[in-house]
Amino acid sequence: MSKAAFDLSQSQGDAVLALLERARVPPLPAFYRLFFDYVAGAKGLMAERVGTVLTDGKGAVGKRLYTEFIAPYENSEALDQALGQMLSRLATLDRLLVERSEASARHSRSLAEAGGHFGAERLDAGLLREWVQRLEVSHKLVLRANMALAGELAEAHRELAVTKAEIGRSRESTLRDPLTGIANRAGLDLALNRLMAQSPEHPLSVALLDIDHFKTLNDGYGHPVGDQVLRIVSHALLASARASDIVGRTGGDEFVVVLAGTALAAAYDAADGMRQAVAAADLASAMGTDILGGVTASIGVAELEPGESIAHLLDRADRCLYRAKQSGRNRVASLAVAADAA
Ligand code: GH3
Ligand code: MG
Repeated sequence: MSKAAFDLSQSQGDAVLALLERARVPPLPAFYRLFFDYVAGAKGLMAERVGTVLTDGKGAVGKRLYTEFIAPYENSEALDQALGQMLSRLATLDRLLVERSEASARHSRSLAEAGGHFGAERLDAGLLREWVQRLEVSHKLVLRANMALAGELAEAHRELAVTKAEIGRSRESTLRDPLTGIANRAGLDLALNRLMAQSPEHPLSVALLDIDHFKTLNDGYGHPVGDQVLRIVSHALLASARASDIVGRTGGDEFVVVLAGTALAAAYDAADGMRQAVAAADLASAMGTDILGGVTASIGVAELEPGESIAHLLDRADRCLYRAKQSGRNRVASLAVAADAA
């Protein structure tokens, strides 16, 4: 690391510690990493959200950041267990390798010694028998050590496959919203960055959706019913999205659909299809109760402009969403499409 890079990290580290202290967040490694990305100017939804939580004045910064960014990533118990098993298997393999090389060395010594005796002019039949027996024993020991090693190696292979799958699952779970199973903020961030890097020449739009009067529904029917509605909305979005779209929940009652390869006019139509799918969702039979009326959502749509950042794109979609809410809800708004659907 160059001196300049070191100085920069040090001043960023100081800024992170000062920020943690100001926000009354404990300087635990997970929080430190989150704040470091934010201070270092990481672009994307996560950094943007950390900024919002830090500045929106709603308090409980540590608790909110923990719930949103740290707790969902901590379900690595199965991975820890698999890694632990793998480590103890490696220790066993290590011991067996030593045992095998000791057995091989003993066998070589026996062979060399026997060779020395057989060099004598007169061969004694008794001595010969004794040496054949000794060599048989040391050969058997080598064989046994080899078999133990092969058995352990086969087990290690099996465990490695389990560990690999666990690592995959653990990584996957950091990118998903546990309530709905769709992408979370980090998952969307990753997908958007990938799309922008892979095909910068293709159009890309986002639809930002927020459920209408969700708070009233939550207050009237309770949080568990609200949670179920969030799941139903995510199903409706998945059902109406194309295979290349990425559907995610960014928190609360807000969803983002990334429409890859889609320019604004088509994105607007797709978003209106999503709006209709949400409005048509059969809440009563899905919830086993008919106390609920329908649920509607408002959507803001924006297309990525050349050189635009993700944060700026989402900000424009958010402004459209605000317009959709202001002009009566249950509608789609975009900057360039004049007629809003209702
Ligand atoms: P608007 O039409 O203007 O969007 O009104 P609204 O009532 O939907 O307002 P807003 O979008 O601000 O409300 C979001 C509500 O979502 C507030 C909070 O009680 C609720 N909420 C946030 N996270 C969750 C969650 O995980 N589960 C449930 N059930 N409710 C949540
Ligand atoms: Mg809402």
